Amino acid sequence: ESALYVLATPIGNVCDVTLRALHVLTIADAVACEDTRNTSHLLTRYGISQTLIAAHEHNEREAADKIIARLQQGQRIALVSDAGTPAVSDPGARIVEAVRAAGLRVVPLPGPSAAVAALSASGFVNDAFRFIGFLPNKSRQREHALQKLAADTATLVFYEAPHRIVETVDALLQAFGPERHVVLGRELTKLFETVHRCPLAEAPAWLAEDSNRQRGEFVVLVEGAAAAGDDDNAEAERVLRILLEELP
Ligand code: SAM
Repeated sequence: ESALYVLATPIGNVCDVTLRALHVLTIADAVACEDTRNTSHLLTRYGISQTLIAAHEHNEREAADKIIARLQQGQRIALVSDAGTPAVSDPGARIVEAVRAAGLRVVPLPGPSAAVAALSASGFVNDAFRFIGFLPNKSRQREHALQKLAADTATLVFYEAPHRIVETVDALLQAFGPERHVVLGRELTKLFETVHRCPLAEAPAWLAEDSNRQRGEFVVLVEGAAAAGDDDNAEAERVLRILLEELP
C-alpha cells in the first residue's frame, strides 16, 4: 500500500535490522536517505538494489516535494537516516510533517534507537524519561540548558560525540551535583560496547582512567532529580514502621 515508511536501521550491529524493514526496503519504489553512500552499504549487505533519493538536513523541503509527488502516484517510499530511527536527532521530521499535511499515509517501522537501547540497559527504575539529544556546543548555552533541567524528575537522555564527552560529563556534574547516577552508554551494539553506571562524582575519573573510554558514540543518561515529596514519604514510612512494630 502506498505510504511513507519511516524505517529504523541499525546503530552498529547490522543484524539489528528487522525482517519487516528488509521486506519494505525490498518492495519500496524508492528509498529516501540521509546519505546515499551510507544507505547503499546497508542495502548491498542485504543484496537489495534500490532507487535512492537524497533527503538530508539541507534539502528536506525539495525532498519532501519529490516524495509527495511519488506518493501521489501510489508509490511506496522508505525513509531512512544513517543510523537508528529517522527524526530522532536526525533528519526526517520535516518530510514526515509535509507528507502528513498533504493527507498521505505515514507508517512507522520501529527498530533500533540509541536512546532506548541505553535506557533498557541502564537499570534506572523510572518510567519517565526526557529526551534531550545533543546539548548546545557553547559552554554558556549548555550550562543554561542544564540549569533548566536540574529539577526534572525524569531520567535525562543526552547524545554526545566523542570529542566532547569529557567536557559534557564535567558540565553534568556541575549542574546536577555529585550524587545522581549517570550511565555512559558507549558504542552500543558494537565491538567495544560499554554501559557504565556510577555516581556523577566518579564519572570524570572513570573517563580519565583509560582514553579508550572517551572514544566512540555516546548516550549519556542522568538519573532524575528526587521528587519534592520524597523526603516526606520517607519520614511517613519510618513513622509507620515504628507504629506497626508497637501496635498489638
Ligand atoms: N537517529 C539515531 C537514533 O535513533 O538513535 C540518532 C542519530 S544522532 C545523529 C547520532 C548520535 O546518536 C551519536 O552521536 C550518539 O550520541 C548516538 N548514537 C548513535 N549510535 C550509537 C551507538 N551505537 N552507541 C551509542 N550512541 C549512539
